Amino acid sequence: MDITKLSAVEIKQQIKKGTISCVETVQAFLNKIKQFEKYNAILETFDDAIENARIMDKKIKSGFNGKLAGVPIIIKDNILYKNKLCCCGSKFLKNYKAEYNSTVVNKMLSEGAIIIGRANMDEFAMGSSTENSAFGITHNPLDFDRVPGGSSGGSACAVALDMCPIALGTETGGSVRQPASYCGIYGLKPSYGRISRYGVVAFASSLDQVGIFSKTIEDNALMLEVLAGFDENDETSSKTKVEQYTKFENADKLKIGIPNEIIKMIKGMDCENNFFDFINLLKKNGLQIVPVSIKNIELALATYYILAPAEAASNLARFDGVKYTTRNQNAKSLQEIYKKSRSEGFGKEVKRRIMLGNYVLSSGYYDAYYNKAKGVQGLLIEDCLNAFKLCDVLIMPTTVGEAYKIGSKPSDPVETYKEDVFTVTANIVGSPSLSIPFGKGKNKMPLGIQLFGKKFGEKNIYDLALLVEKLVKKEANNAI
Ligand code: GLN
Repeated sequence: MDITKLSAVEIKQQIKKGTISCVETVQAFLNKIKQFEKYNAILETFDDAIENARIMDKKIKSGFNGKLAGVPIIIKDNILYKNKLCCCGSKFLKNYKAEYNSTVVNKMLSEGAIIIGRANMDEFAMGSSTENSAFGITHNPLDFDRVPGGSSGGSACAVALDMCPIALGTETGGSVRQPASYCGIYGLKPSYGRISRYGVVAFASSLDQVGIFSKTIEDNALMLEVLAGFDENDETSSKTKVEQYTKFENADKLKIGIPNEIIKMIKGMDCENNFFDFINLLKKNGLQIVPVSIKNIELALATYYILAPAEAASNLARFDGVKYTTRNQNAKSLQEIYKKSRSEGFGKEVKRRIMLGNYVLSSGYYDAYYNKAKGVQGLLIEDCLNAFKLCDVLIMPTTVGEAYKIGSKPSDPVETYKEDVFTVTANIVGSPSLSIPFGKGKNKMPLGIQLFGKKFGEKNIYDLALLVEKLVKKEANNAI
């Protein structure tokens, strides 16, 4: 049996039956990480992983039955795991060790997970390709010359290449769904407030959420069940009841909404035909499709690129060469410590975001940009509330097209920002959205479709995703 091909649910079962041990399991995944080192998905494997697996083997023998008992997990490099490096893909934090566990890490550990490593990412989660990491580019698991997406590209690549069954990423504007789509796996961005952000390095606090990468729907739902819930350490975490996501229900009565504006926006894009194929699949199988409108969706991208940098500029002010970060050794005054340390610590994209953010927040421009963007956010929330009066789940493409070639984006950063056109809305309105692998692009690279739900409507999304998985399989069998 190749353990690395198993899902988390299967690993758990096999360990429980005694067919495999946690130590064997962790070793198998560590070997995979070594084998695929050249993809640069993993920045570090933790040297206590085997020892923790040994302890877990004993615990399981004496009756422990955690939801993730013995399951190896990889976390993005911006999630705190006590005494382990947490660099956020930045050389500024290259020596920073976490002083405490994030809530997500605590929750996984208490359910028996073994955290085996940390994954590469765009610096401070700013980017869509993992080309912005200070620790080198991560490669696409299906084509070495292409990007894996970003900013959680390392986590996505790791899952797609069987380096772990489940990995955590983070989302501010698409950083889990977009790489999931580029790598052909599942990626969930939960509702804002569904998962605690305590111990997750902030990018834009009002948009950030931890997200989940997996190869199966069941694994994704299982992980959300573990991570979701109120946490007194994060005042933005919600008290809304956590549902049993792994208890799947029939989804064929769900009403599926298609925003009219999306149909217009995708004209001529690489994702166009694939999106219509998806709609046809649903129609053919009797699902109810309803047209809806999200009037202001075309403003979402500009709104995001005002709100996210504004919050980032303020969140990143703490990295000053005095606390956390590496300090410039030639600085002679406090001012110089700030200036020199920040100048050499941050990469180009991060500096650009800080400048953008401070610009839109500066007096004179605050009303014209930041306040206006907050207003549009309100309109988008209203649009979505209205759309969800007519349907249960919205669908839209995850990305404009398939993963692009490394280094192929023009020097104009706006061209890269445009890649986020379909993902940012879920973050702006706080909705959950799951990217499911569906179809291929013109170079046979995977594409994704988003199942976008009502706030705290993750259950509907998972139920629908499982149904779609069945329909796709049925279709493939018919084609043979
Ligand atoms: N690509 C987007 C950005 O660069 C989203 C990043 C994210 O979700 N962390 O801002």
